[in-house]
Amino acid sequence: MKASILVVGDELLGGRCQDTNSGWLCSRLRALGLEIVEGRCGPDDQSWIASAMSDLAKKSDLVLVTGGLGPTPDDLTREGLSIFLADPLVVDEEAFAWIQEHFSNAGLEMGPSQSRLAMRPSGAACFPNHVGTAPSILSRDEGTAIWLLPGPPRELHDAWERHVKKWLVTQGQRDQVVKPITIKCFGLIEADLESRLGSLADRSHRPLAGTRISQGEFHLHLDPCGVDQASMDECARRARSQLHPYDFGQDAQTLPQIVGVRLKARGETLSTAESCTAGLISSAIVGVSGSSEWFHGGWVVYSNQMKQSCLDVSSELIERDGAVSREVVESLARAATSQSGSDWALAVSGVAGPGGGTPEKPVGTVWIACHGPGMSHQRCFRFSGDRSVVRHRSMMASLQMLRWSLEGVDPLTPMSWDVAND
Ligand code: AMP
Ligand code: MG
Repeated sequence: MKASILVVGDELLGGRCQDTNSGWLCSRLRALGLEIVEGRCGPDDQSWIASAMSDLAKKSDLVLVTGGLGPTPDDLTREGLSIFLADPLVVDEEAFAWIQEHFSNAGLEMGPSQSRLAMRPSGAACFPNHVGTAPSILSRDEGTAIWLLPGPPRELHDAWERHVKKWLVTQGQRDQVVKPITIKCFGLIEADLESRLGSLADRSHRPLAGTRISQGEFHLHLDPCGVDQASMDECARRARSQLHPYDFGQDAQTLPQIVGVRLKARGETLSTAESCTAGLISSAIVGVSGSSEWFHGGWVVYSNQMKQSCLDVSSELIERDGAVSREVVESLARAATSQSGSDWALAVSGVAGPGGGTPEKPVGTVWIACHGPGMSHQRCFRFSGDRSVVRHRSMMASLQMLRWSLEGVDPLTPMSWDVAND
């Protein structure tokens, strides 16, 4: 079934109110397996509403409209529907009684503007609003169903659960058995993307692939668009091999979680020594339930003095190479493993900015060390972005280095933000 969404309200166009209804409805419709062909946003203008409905009804089996059902003179969605259907508005007696009851329960008088709430095109049906006053309205134009739903999100959600979802089931729409898949990657070099994805990125490819960057992670989203589960799984497998070794997980999986799974499988443990991330890595790790099985703990060694006193980094080393250097992170990581008794350690030292940069080590320069059984690797990154972006990318890059080490992948595999890894 093809669906479209129309959101109405001057406040949405004026930037006074953010449209959250469209996204909310899209995710619900997609979960039921409907294809969304278009979403539109427009003013409280009855002619515009009627013409938008007419356009959308031509290309969809279902049009969901929100907003403009209130009692004020600028709420004109009912009138727009009446113009589009060329069907006059009449009072729905049952809806009038619901609204009257709502007002009398609240000890209020019902005014003439509230009576408008009970109006609908003569061939349409009203559905009660259990958390507000404006009823939802269902009408038909040839093969297309048009639902008018209240704009306030709480009322919309209630109307969806009580009325629209049930109605969709009567139309043969069941929960989608084939779910979309999101493949998550980190460190992927964007210039490589086109050749890596190949025909997967074709707009005619099924499942349909979409890409998104979120907090430095690259997400490849596969939308079934009619294919079965076996084709989805096969496509996800192929996509992951094309994105290897940057792909760390799928759907709700996170990088710290995957690192935990790998450490636990090997019966090994981790500790951290963090300067510029100052606890961000350990915080991400303990965000995973059960992390006490594989995480010993960590040091926040922000000052040079703490690097020396807690983890024995020599003052000569800091003097000679600087706190942001290969030698210092290597020394921190080695000391973290020996002092905590962990098998692995991650150490980070960098210039998060906005101050503190130099020509040799500009803002965003971060050294990361990953030290473990029989291996010790260090690499330098140059992250762009503000302080929180630099710190977050550092946390992710260090966990990706560790994951690679645990999976037998070279932890110096190129990433987007490499400086020099000689
Ligand atoms: P209305 O039914 O047009 O009178 O809308 C009533 C209220 O619902 C508005 O003032 C907004 O606060 C909210 N609302 C309407 N449309 C949306 C939307 N698309 N997204 C989020 N909130 C909305
Ligand atoms: Mg409005």
